[in-house]
Amino acid sequence: MSKKTKIIAIAVTAVVLLALAAGYLYWTGAFDKFLPRKAFVLEEYHASDAAAIEPEEYVPDLILVNKQHTLSEDYEPDIVFYRDTDVPMGRAIVDAYGELSDYIRNNMNDRLFVSSTYRSYDEQQRVFDEEGSDVAALPGESEHQTGLAVDVYVKNFAGKGFIQSKVGMYVNKSCQDYGFIIRYPEGKEDITGFEYEPWHLRYVGHPHAEIIAEYDLTLEEYLGYFAAGKWYKYGDYVIGMCSEDDIKIPTGVDQDSVKFSKDNRGNVFVWGKIA
Ligand SMILES: [Zn+2]
Repeated sequence: MSKKTKIIAIAVTAVVLLALAAGYLYWTGAFDKFLPRKAFVLEEYHASDAAAIEPEEYVPDLILVNKQHTLSEDYEPDIVFYRDTDVPMGRAIVDAYGELSDYIRNNMNDRLFVSSTYRSYDEQQRVFDEEGSDVAALPGESEHQTGLAVDVYVKNFAGKGFIQSKVGMYVNKSCQDYGFIIRYPEGKEDITGFEYEPWHLRYVGHPHAEIIAEYDLTLEEYLGYFAAGKWYKYGDYVIGMCSEDDIKIPTGVDQDSVKFSKDNRGNVFVWGKIA
C-alpha cells in the first residue's frame, strides 16, 4: 500500500467512526443536553370575558408534591387495580399506562414492568425508615401517594440502568405522548429536590405533558409560569390558573371539554379546547 493510500484509508476510517459515534449520541439523545434550551413562552389567549364556575369534579393531574408542597396523611386518591393485577394505581392513569405498556409489548418486543406505584402515607414512612433519606422521600413528600407516579423497568435494566435500554430511551423520549413526564430530569436536581430518575413517570395528562417535554421543564417550572387570571394557548387548548375561591372559564372555550385540577399550592388549573 502506498503512503498516500494508507493516509486515505486512515482518514476514511476516522470519518466513518466519527459518523457512527455522532449517530449513536444523536440516537440516544445525549446531544440534547448540549443544545440551547428553548425559552418557555406560551401565546396569550385574550378572552372577551370569563364566567365564574363551581366545578362539579376535579381531576388530580396537576397536583404538585415536593419538599415544599407536601400531602397530609389524610390525602387519599382514587385508587384502582391495574387491569387484572394486584398493582394499585390512580384511576386517572390506568388507561394511559396501559397504552404505553401495550405499545412496548406490541412494537418493541419487550415488557414494561412496574416496581412501585401507589404508596400510602404509612407505607412511605416504612420505606423511608428502611431505606433512609438518601433514597426515599419523607411521607407527604412523595408523589407516589397521589397514585399518579409509576416506577418502571424492563428485564435486565432497572433503576439508573433503565435509560441504557431501548425501552428506557423510548419511554424517556416519548412518554409525553401518553400524558406522562420524567418527573426528576437530569440537571434539574436543584429545582425538583431529587436526583435524576429515568424510571419515575408522573402522569400530568394532556396537553401539559407535551408542553413540559417540548420546553424541557420540571413540573415546578411549568406551574410556576402561570399567574391567576391570565390565559394561554397551546395547540387547540386554552390553559389558565385561578385562585381556589375565584374559578372561571374564559369565553370561546368548549365548556364540555374543560377540566379542573387543584395544584396543592392554593390554585386551580383550568384547561379546555377552543370551541
Ligand atoms: Zn418513583
